[in-house]
Amino acid sequence: MANNESVDWQFSGSDEGKAASEASLSTYTSKLFALCDPQGKPILPPRGETAETSHTAERAVVKAVLFGTGNAYALQAVADYLNRDLPKKLSPDDVFMTVGCKQAIELAVDTLAKPNANILLPKPGYPSNLIRSIFKHLEVRNYEFLREKKYEIDLDSVRAAADENTFAIFIINPHNPNGNTYSEAHLKQLAVLARELGIMVVSDEVFRWSVFGSNPFVPMGKFSSIVPVVTLGSISKGWSVPGWRTGWIALHDLDGVFKSKNVLAAIKQFLDLNSKPPTVIQAAIPTILEKTGKEFFHRRQMFLKDKTDLAYYKLKSIPSLTCYMKPEACTFFWTELNLSSFVDIEDDEDFCEKLATEENLVLLPGIAFTLKNWVRHSIDMDTPTLEDAFDRLKSFCDRHSISGETPRKAVNGVN
Ligand SMILES: *Cc1c(COP(=O)(O)O)cnc(C)c1O
Repeated sequence: MANNESVDWQFSGSDEGKAASEASLSTYTSKLFALCDPQGKPILPPRGETAETSHTAERAVVKAVLFGTGNAYALQAVADYLNRDLPKKLSPDDVFMTVGCKQAIELAVDTLAKPNANILLPKPGYPSNLIRSIFKHLEVRNYEFLREKKYEIDLDSVRAAADENTFAIFIINPHNPNGNTYSEAHLKQLAVLARELGIMVVSDEVFRWSVFGSNPFVPMGKFSSIVPVVTLGSISKGWSVPGWRTGWIALHDLDGVFKSKNVLAAIKQFLDLNSKPPTVIQAAIPTILEKTGKEFFHRRQMFLKDKTDLAYYKLKSIPSLTCYMKPEACTFFWTELNLSSFVDIEDDEDFCEKLATEENLVLLPGIAFTLKNWVRHSIDMDTPTLEDAFDRLKSFCDRHSISGETPRKAVNGVN
């Protein structure tokens, strides 16, 4: 057929995913990395590098590949693992394997998306639940945090946002990007409030292994005698294996509410429509969860604590960024831009774009987590690299700041 013959192709791509994809973290990340100069200084954070995983996990997967072990025990293993901290025990029937925590979030949103329903999401927060809600046309309302109380959830803002059409409150604990962990007392208050509002609590606990502060991690499932709880998790962050795509959703039912309210059936139906995590990883899950030694997590936590101390120290010399709480979990810093101290920075996106262009350093703009004029810095790199990152950040901020003024330290949360 002649090449120049014009064909009236009768297909075109859907734009259903457009609005949701624009809000995704990868959209922001790709845009910023594209502004970096591959011929310039090393691009930070280094891409494609993740922390080492445990040898136990690696060996468990190799064994599953070579010997074709079954995947029947993954659900039992996840239930057993979560049960370590729970008074009301889960059975394997309460657990479902998902393609990472992301698919667990999507399932939770899909299950709740009904005309007129709304859900409460954290502002700021890791955006997967928001993105899925945009995609599913589920109304989102935000609740906020108390900066002066180490980013506890502002329960008044929860109450103010909820109405008779609210189905659920989503929490992230430990919180990405705030970097804190909720105390047992605080979670209990939340459970009591959610019960009063008649809503379930969906708790994203993907960072539960990355806690290094004095506040220990407490699972929300502990309060399932007060309110129905859905726990979301995965091995992605704890074992530094995000590419293994294996996570779970666990239903901590309260007196059969999830059953009678059709939540259990809906989850099963949506799971039938979705792909499953790779069988070789599922087969390795019992060994990964049961056999990974405490030392592995301890080493990782000490690494993150050490980097947090260094980053906190380095931030003291950058008065145009305010960190209100030294992180006690996760792998980031979350700081506010003091916009008035800059001469030519319009907002967080402008800040991040200029920083990437001039310094080959990528920080994510707060708007990617729904809070404008904040930034999230990764600290998950070795000491010389992290020092380099903060030196570049300082030199950038100094260059774009009003000169001749030494802002008083008391203005900055870092003292
Ligand atoms: C990274 C992350 C996820 C996604 O986890 P995957 O297992 O890689 O899908 C979900 N929630 C939070 C808070 C995260 O930081």
